[in-house]
Amino acid sequence: MDEGDPPESFEQQRLANVHPAGWVNPAPADRYDLVVIGGGPAGLVACEAAGPLGVRVALIENDALGGNNLNTGSVPSKALLRTARLCAEMRAAGRYGARAGDDCGVDFAAAMARMRRVRARISRVDSARRLAQAGVDVFFGDAVFSGVDRVDVAGARLHFSRALIATGARPDTPQIPGLADAGYLTNETVFDITAVPARLLVIGGGPLGCELAQAFARFGARTTIAQAAPLFLAKEERDAAQLLSEALARDGVQVRLNTSAVSVRVARGGRARDESTEAAIGPGRRITDSAVNDHD
Ligand SMILES: Cc1cc2nc3c(=O)[nH]c(=O)nc-3n(C[C@H](O)[C@H](O)[C@H](O)COP(=O)(O)OP(=O)(O)OC[C@H]3O[C@@H](n4cnc5c(N)ncnc54)[C@H](O)[C@@H]3O)c2cc1C
Repeated sequence: MDEGDPPESFEQQRLANVHPAGWVNPAPADRYDLVVIGGGPAGLVACEAAGPLGVRVALIENDALGGNNLNTGSVPSKALLRTARLCAEMRAAGRYGARAGDDCGVDFAAAMARMRRVRARISRVDSARRLAQAGVDVFFGDAVFSGVDRVDVAGARLHFSRALIATGARPDTPQIPGLADAGYLTNETVFDITAVPARLLVIGGGPLGCELAQAFARFGARTTIAQAAPLFLAKEERDAAQLLSEALARDGVQVRLNTSAVSVRVARGGRARDESTEAAIGPGRRITDSAVNDHD
């Protein structure tokens, strides 16, 4: 894989690793010492740790190996943050005695292509084939317990001595009137957008909301964070929260505390998620965080 590969091939390579087309689930063993449900970082680490012990392990994943971390969380967000940081540093080049070109805007398509290349490269580590070679029986499908020592997946029944549930988290959509009709982004969709929104409202000012807000502000979106709580990053150490608050202000992010999203209206013209004018995002998660919002 190299930089010259067509961007769509990165996605093909990732999917070939994390959920290969035509994958045939193995015939189940008589009994597994361990069945792991969920192939995110937690499930994968459990498989890796169990391997050297010589125990029989099965892993069940209903979507993509690597979980949030690889596909819709840490890896894509950190790849985009890297580009966003570079943009910010180039704009501040003069402060360091360096000169950047006049045009140091972002080529969003190129930044997203790089993110997909990074994600595809890392996906080799989480690949179904690599797990199978390490002796793990990999099953794709929904895991459903059918007894105290058995779980069903895609028509097969797996018997186990121990099961580990590592099914992670998913976006938790807040119940805001109008939101569902208007449309919104979450971490499961934001890494698929094709243009920087002109305006972005992030509902929820936790770490995930802050990092996405900062990245998109640095890419040129007019970005606002709305959070219901009165204190910015209330769970963090106050000096750290203050530093981050100042950094967000420098990047032009508006932070509105004591602010709850109460309703969402579709923009004039009928499109709430017109990427050229505005977008809404929701990194809130069940066991997690989310955001969204609006348009006038
Ligand atoms: C935008 C964003 C940025 C983040 N950045 C960071 C960061 O910088 N650093 C950091 O440490 N963490 C970060 N995180 C958090 C990190 O991604 C999660 O903590 C991590 O992915 C949790 O791993 P997990 O294995 O517990 O769950 P997950 O990664 O959620 O994996 C669970 C897996 O279980 C599967 N599954 C669910 N139900 C079933 C079922 N019934 N049958 C079979 N499979 C099932 C899912 O498809 C999924 O693949 C970020 C998260 C997000 C959303």
